[in-house]
Amino acid sequence: VESFTYLDHAATTPMRASAIAAMTPFLDQCFANPSGSHRFARQARQALDEARDLVADLCGVRPGEIVFTSCGTESDTTVLLGAAREGGGDLTAPTGLVCSTAEHHAVLDPVQHHGGTVVRVDATGHIDLDALAAALDDSTRVVSVMAVNNEVGRITDLGAVAKLVRQRAPQALLHSDAVQAACWMDLAQITAVVDSISLSAHKFGGPKGVGILTLRERFTLRPLLRGGGQERDRRSGTHNLAGIVATAEALRATVEGRSAQIARIQALRERLLEAVHHHIPDVTVTLDPELSVPGIVHLCVNAVESEALLFLLDQAGVCASAASACASGAMEPSHVLAAMGVPSSQARGALRLSLGYTTTEAEIDAAVAVLADSVARLRHPVRM
Ligand code: PLP
Repeated sequence: VESFTYLDHAATTPMRASAIAAMTPFLDQCFANPSGSHRFARQARQALDEARDLVADLCGVRPGEIVFTSCGTESDTTVLLGAAREGGGDLTAPTGLVCSTAEHHAVLDPVQHHGGTVVRVDATGHIDLDALAAALDDSTRVVSVMAVNNEVGRITDLGAVAKLVRQRAPQALLHSDAVQAACWMDLAQITAVVDSISLSAHKFGGPKGVGILTLRERFTLRPLLRGGGQERDRRSGTHNLAGIVATAEALRATVEGRSAQIARIQALRERLLEAVHHHIPDVTVTLDPELSVPGIVHLCVNAVESEALLFLLDQAGVCASAASACASGAMEPSHVLAAMGVPSSQARGALRLSLGYTTTEAEIDAAVAVLADSVARLRHPVRM
């Protein structure tokens, strides 16, 4: 493999070796369907139960409050549509959805599609609490506010959000998309104040294709997928047992190493910001590092287009991202930066460098050198 510098951990992380080791026996030796009744199925069921117990414990919820899904997007959609239709028929449109303008599309799009209320954020990307208060009433069914923003890393004060929701819409389910939180925050502290969270295994060293939804037992859902009745009828479909076992191990390793990684990555972030400041003129750090998780550094590079910059970075072996790339890889203007009031001239040079458990000092230094060179080339193209 050619050497490269990977600063795109918020998009996805490499799988942890211990998670790969944990999953391998379930691909060939213990491949049975955990819903079956023979001895191999029972073995598989036991592994599933153990993974569920571990994940529940790490999330601060009960095993019955864990629903395994196929991704973070499915977890978000399941709770948004499932809880907002509860009581109605399957074809009843969900109503009473509320979220913030800075949500990931996995929340924003379903809320907008079903005519929900989208609440503005302030200049730091935090949901505006006065606007949220005004959006809540006795018709509100699900409020969804992300724990950590995926573009700029902004951490939400979920305690303040929960207080408002409990006061003004006590009947509502409060959900938090915590997909970007797992590496940085104590999930039990989050589940202590909200009713449900979504996680995605590939963001913390697990495999792609496994999501987690925690949902407090007092809430019922209209399932998106009906069929074999797995996950207590909340999500039918044969379990991805190997993926689930690997997810549990990845989350265990993430939680075990979390405080050490936070300290290490905070130091790497400081090194990165200092070097950027030193070597690249006219770059704005979008968010005060105090307000964001250590792993996400968002910059706006003046007088440079993200797309051209990413192209040069890629050519030099540096993997980074702009604000939001859609599935086709094409660049879209960031709805998060627009919601924060970042002028579009500035947002055009958006660059997200995201760090994770494999990031090294050498990678930071290499990335800054390439970045400085690329920015200079774009700003001062050599004329022939
Ligand atoms: N929510 C947030 C905040 C994310 O960052 C992502 C992925 O980037 C998702 C949801 C979607 O997760 P998945 O890719 O597992 O569907």
